[in-house]
Amino acid sequence: MAASCRLSMSEIQRRSKKVGLIPLFTQQTNSATPMPFRCAKCGKHQLKRIGNVSYGKGCLYCGNLKSSEAKKLDIAAIKEKLGSKNYQLISSNGASRIEAKCRGCGRVKKTSLYNILKTSYCQGCGPHKSANTINSLNRRTKKS
Ligand SMILES: [Zn+2]
Ligand SMILES: [Zn+2]
Repeated sequence: MAASCRLSMSEIQRRSKKVGLIPLFTQQTNSATPMPFRCAKCGKHQLKRIGNVSYGKGCLYCGNLKSSEAKKLDIAAIKEKLGSKNYQLISSNGASRIEAKCRGCGRVKKTSLYNILKTSYCQGCGPHKSANTINSLNRRTKKS
């Protein structure tokens, strides 16, 4: 059975090229053992199972780049939402785990975006101070 699973090196090279990887070995042990590859795009070395490469699984890191780009978009959306609540984003690990600073009192909150959005203002500022901020903002806009 193992013999029939075994691919020739040229076949491995062909399949690796398809997913943008360069095999860094000259002999395959078996399809279940992770083997060293180098990504043709980002140049990072990684261990991958030949079986996975055959199924079209490409570079680990380029895949991560894609998801971190998606994360960046999320962060932009989170920042915008926090800004509307007078919060400044410090760090984010997705919308469920964010660290944000209140622009009013400077308190740092570690919570979820949902938690911040569902409360109108931070406890440190309180409704009174927030109302003042809003009033002063209103006054400013009226003047101009
Ligand atoms: Zn890569
Ligand atoms: Zn505050």
